[in-house]
Amino acid sequence: MSTRQLVLATHNAGKVVELRQILGAAGVPAELLGMDSFPEVPDVVETGVTFAENALLKAHAVARATQLPAIADDSGLAVRVLGGSPGVFSARWSGRHGDDQANLNLLLAQLGDVPDEHRQAHFACAAALALPDGTEKVWHGTMPGTLLREPRGSNGFGYDPILLPEGETRSAAELSADEKNAISHRGKAFRLLAAELGSILN
Ligand code: IMP
Repeated sequence: MSTRQLVLATHNAGKVVELRQILGAAGVPAELLGMDSFPEVPDVVETGVTFAENALLKAHAVARATQLPAIADDSGLAVRVLGGSPGVFSARWSGRHGDDQANLNLLLAQLGDVPDEHRQAHFACAAALALPDGTEKVWHGTMPGTLLREPRGSNGFGYDPILLPEGETRSAAELSADEKNAISHRGKAFRLLAAELGSILN
Protein backbone atom coordinates (compact mmCIF):
# COMPACT_ATOMS: atom_id res chain seq x y z
CA MET A 1 0.00 0.00 0.00
CA SER A 2 1.38 3.45 -0.86
CA THR A 3 1.53 6.20 1.75
CA ARG A 4 -1.76 8.13 1.89
CA GLN A 5 -2.50 11.44 3.50
CA LEU A 6 -5.15 11.34 6.23
CA VAL A 7 -6.54 14.08 8.45
CA LEU A 8 -7.39 13.84 12.14
CA ALA A 9 -10.07 16.42 12.98
CA THR A 10 -8.31 17.96 15.97
CA HIS A 11 -6.03 20.86 16.90
CA ASN A 12 -4.67 18.75 19.78
CA ALA A 13 -1.07 17.83 18.84
CA GLY A 14 -1.02 15.10 21.52
CA LYS A 15 -3.93 13.27 19.85
CA VAL A 16 -2.17 13.45 16.46
CA VAL A 17 1.01 11.93 17.93
CA GLU A 18 -0.99 9.20 19.71
CA LEU A 19 -2.84 8.18 16.52
CA ARG A 20 0.37 8.36 14.43
CA GLN A 21 1.96 5.84 16.82
CA ILE A 22 -1.09 3.57 16.65
CA LEU A 23 -1.19 3.69 12.82
CA GLY A 24 2.55 2.93 12.74
CA ALA A 25 2.14 -0.05 15.08
CA ALA A 26 -0.71 -1.35 12.89
CA GLY A 27 1.48 -1.08 9.78
CA VAL A 28 -0.71 1.54 8.06
CA PRO A 29 1.57 3.62 5.79
CA ALA A 30 -0.26 6.93 6.22
CA GLU A 31 0.86 10.52 6.71
CA LEU A 32 -1.45 11.86 9.42
CA LEU A 33 -2.14 15.61 9.43
CA GLY A 34 -3.90 17.60 12.17
CA MET A 35 -6.20 20.58 11.61
CA ASP A 36 -3.30 22.99 12.16
CA SER A 37 -2.36 22.04 8.56
CA PHE A 38 -5.76 23.38 7.41
CA PRO A 39 -6.21 26.76 9.13
CA GLU A 40 -8.88 27.76 6.61
CA VAL A 41 -11.23 24.92 7.68
CA PRO A 42 -13.56 26.10 10.47
CA ASP A 43 -14.23 24.03 13.62
CA VAL A 44 -17.38 21.94 13.53
CA VAL A 45 -20.10 22.65 16.10
CA GLU A 46 -20.86 19.41 17.98
CA THR A 47 -24.66 19.35 17.78
CA GLY A 48 -25.07 15.57 18.08
CA VAL A 49 -26.48 13.81 21.13
CA THR A 50 -24.26 10.72 20.86
CA PHE A 51 -20.49 10.35 20.63
CA ALA A 52 -20.87 8.61 17.26
CA GLU A 53 -23.03 11.42 15.82
CA ASN A 54 -20.52 14.07 16.84
CA ALA A 55 -17.54 12.08 15.57
CA LEU A 56 -19.30 11.53 12.21
CA LEU A 57 -20.30 15.22 11.94
CA LYS A 58 -16.66 16.23 12.36
CA ALA A 59 -15.21 13.52 10.10
CA HIS A 60 -17.61 14.25 7.21
CA ALA A 61 -17.11 18.02 7.43
CA VAL A 62 -13.33 17.65 7.37
CA ALA A 63 -13.37 15.04 4.57
CA ARG A 64 -15.54 17.37 2.46
CA ALA A 65 -13.38 20.42 3.16
CA THR A 66 -9.99 18.74 2.63
CA GLN A 67 -10.96 16.06 0.06
CA LEU A 68 -8.91 13.61 2.15
CA PRO A 69 -9.98 10.65 4.30
CA ALA A 70 -10.76 12.14 7.71
CA ILE A 71 -10.81 10.65 11.21
CA ALA A 72 -12.57 12.30 14.15
CA ASP A 73 -13.20 11.20 17.70
CA ASP A 74 -15.64 12.27 20.36
CA SER A 75 -15.49 11.13 23.94
CA GLY A 76 -16.75 11.72 27.44
CA LEU A 77 -17.59 10.25 30.81
CA ALA A 78 -20.75 8.19 31.40
CA VAL A 79 -21.87 7.75 35.03
CA ARG A 80 -24.22 4.83 35.69
CA VAL A 81 -26.40 6.42 38.39
CA LEU A 82 -26.78 9.50 36.17
CA GLY A 83 -28.08 7.40 33.27
CA GLY A 84 -24.93 7.96 31.21
CA SER A 85 -24.47 11.69 31.88
CA PRO A 86 -22.46 13.88 31.53
CA GLY A 87 -21.92 11.94 28.26
CA VAL A 88 -21.68 14.28 25.25
CA PHE A 89 -21.93 17.21 27.67
CA SER A 90 -18.76 16.17 29.56
CA ALA A 91 -16.69 19.16 28.38
CA ARG A 92 -19.44 21.67 29.35
CA TRP A 93 -21.16 19.98 32.32
CA SER A 94 -20.71 23.04 34.56
CA GLY A 95 -21.90 25.38 31.80
CA ARG A 96 -18.47 26.61 30.71
CA HIS A 97 -16.92 24.63 27.85
CA GLY A 98 -13.53 23.17 28.75
CA ASP A 99 -13.48 24.19 32.43
CA ASP A 100 -12.17 20.79 33.63
CA GLN A 101 -11.95 21.79 37.28
CA ALA A 102 -15.50 23.18 37.48
CA ASN A 103 -16.90 20.16 35.60
CA LEU A 104 -15.17 17.71 37.96
CA ASN A 105 -16.20 19.64 41.10
CA LEU A 106 -19.85 19.77 40.02
CA LEU A 107 -19.91 16.03 39.29
CA LEU A 108 -18.33 15.18 42.66
CA ALA A 109 -20.91 17.37 44.42
CA GLN A 110 -23.78 15.71 42.54
CA LEU A 111 -22.51 12.27 43.61
CA GLY A 112 -21.83 13.23 47.22
CA ASP A 113 -24.50 10.89 48.63
CA VAL A 114 -23.86 8.02 46.23
CA PRO A 115 -22.20 5.09 48.08
CA ASP A 116 -19.07 3.38 46.76
CA GLU A 117 -20.93 0.35 45.39
CA HIS A 118 -22.95 2.59 43.05
CA ARG A 119 -20.14 4.75 41.67
CA GLN A 120 -19.53 2.86 38.40
CA ALA A 121 -18.63 4.99 35.37
CA HIS A 122 -16.77 4.68 32.11
CA PHE A 123 -15.03 6.88 29.60
CA ALA A 124 -16.40 6.25 26.11
CA CYS A 125 -14.96 7.14 22.73
CA ALA A 126 -16.35 6.95 19.21
CA ALA A 127 -13.76 7.17 16.42
CA ALA A 128 -15.22 7.87 12.97
CA LEU A 129 -13.69 7.62 9.51
CA ALA A 130 -15.26 9.49 6.59
CA LEU A 131 -14.06 9.48 2.99
CA PRO A 132 -14.67 12.36 0.55
CA ASP A 133 -17.15 10.09 -1.33
CA GLY A 134 -19.32 9.84 1.83
CA THR A 135 -18.23 6.37 2.96
CA GLU A 136 -18.26 6.19 6.78
CA LYS A 137 -17.51 3.81 9.65
CA VAL A 138 -17.43 4.20 13.45
CA TRP A 139 -15.50 2.23 16.09
CA HIS A 140 -16.09 2.37 19.85
CA GLY A 141 -13.91 1.98 22.95
CA THR A 142 -14.62 2.23 26.68
CA MET A 143 -12.55 2.48 29.85
CA PRO A 144 -14.63 1.24 32.79
CA GLY A 145 -13.99 2.08 36.42
CA THR A 146 -15.40 3.67 39.57
CA LEU A 147 -15.52 7.28 40.69
CA LEU A 148 -13.38 8.41 43.62
CA ARG A 149 -14.56 10.96 46.22
CA GLU A 150 -11.46 13.17 45.95
CA PRO A 151 -9.29 13.96 42.92
CA ARG A 152 -5.97 12.07 42.80
CA GLY A 153 -2.99 12.65 40.48
CA SER A 154 -1.96 15.39 38.08
CA ASN A 155 -1.44 13.63 34.73
CA GLY A 156 -4.05 13.53 31.99
CA PHE A 157 -6.97 15.94 31.83
CA GLY A 158 -10.70 16.25 32.37
CA TYR A 159 -12.17 13.72 34.79
CA ASP A 160 -8.97 11.59 34.97
CA PRO A 161 -8.28 12.47 38.65
CA ILE A 162 -11.60 10.94 39.78
CA LEU A 163 -11.73 7.76 37.66
CA LEU A 164 -10.21 4.62 39.16
CA PRO A 165 -9.88 2.30 36.14
CA GLU A 166 -11.09 -1.28 36.65
CA GLY A 167 -8.32 -3.44 38.17
CA GLU A 168 -6.14 -0.39 39.00
CA THR A 169 -5.08 1.03 42.36
CA ARG A 170 -4.18 4.40 40.77
CA SER A 171 -6.53 6.99 39.28
CA ALA A 172 -6.34 7.65 35.53
CA ALA A 173 -4.43 10.85 36.43
CA GLU A 174 -1.80 8.80 38.29
CA LEU A 175 -1.02 6.66 35.21
CA SER A 176 1.68 7.67 32.72
CA ALA A 177 0.48 8.65 29.24
CA ASP A 178 1.61 5.29 27.83
CA GLU A 179 -0.10 3.33 30.64
CA LYS A 180 -3.34 5.23 30.07
CA ASN A 181 -3.23 4.93 26.26
CA ALA A 182 -2.84 1.15 26.60
CA ILE A 183 -6.22 0.85 28.39
CA SER A 184 -8.05 4.02 27.39
CA HIS A 185 -11.33 4.35 25.51
CA ARG A 186 -9.60 6.42 22.81
CA GLY A 187 -6.64 4.00 22.52
CA LYS A 188 -9.06 1.07 22.09
CA ALA A 189 -11.24 2.85 19.49
CA PHE A 190 -8.20 4.10 17.54
CA ARG A 191 -6.58 0.62 17.56
CA LEU A 192 -9.78 -0.96 16.18
CA LEU A 193 -9.90 1.74 13.48
CA ALA A 194 -6.21 1.27 12.64
CA ALA A 195 -6.70 -2.49 12.23
CA GLU A 196 -9.31 -1.93 9.49
CA LEU A 197 -8.04 1.28 7.91
CA GLY A 198 -5.69 -0.38 5.43
CA SER A 199 -8.39 -2.49 3.82
CA ILE A 200 -10.91 0.40 3.72
CA LEU A 201 -8.45 2.78 2.02
CA ASN A 202 -7.32 0.20 -0.56
P1 IMP B 1 -13.08 15.30 23.70
O1 IMP B 1 -14.01 14.44 22.92
O2 IMP B 1 -11.67 14.79 23.66
O3 IMP B 1 -13.21 16.74 23.37
O4 IMP B 1 -13.51 15.17 25.24
C1 IMP B 1 -14.72 15.69 25.74
C2 IMP B 1 -14.67 15.79 27.26
O5 IMP B 1 -14.82 14.49 27.82
C3 IMP B 1 -13.36 16.33 27.82
O6 IMP B 1 -13.40 17.72 27.91
C4 IMP B 1 -13.33 15.68 29.19
O7 IMP B 1 -14.14 16.39 30.08
C5 IMP B 1 -13.99 14.33 28.94
N1 IMP B 1 -13.00 13.30 28.61
C6 IMP B 1 -12.87 12.64 27.43
N2 IMP B 1 -11.85 11.77 27.47
C7 IMP B 1 -11.31 11.88 28.69
C8 IMP B 1 -10.20 11.25 29.32
O8 IMP B 1 -9.48 10.42 28.75
N3 IMP B 1 -9.95 11.64 30.58
C9 IMP B 1 -10.69 12.56 31.24
N4 IMP B 1 -11.72 13.20 30.70
C10 IMP B 1 -12.05 12.85 29.43
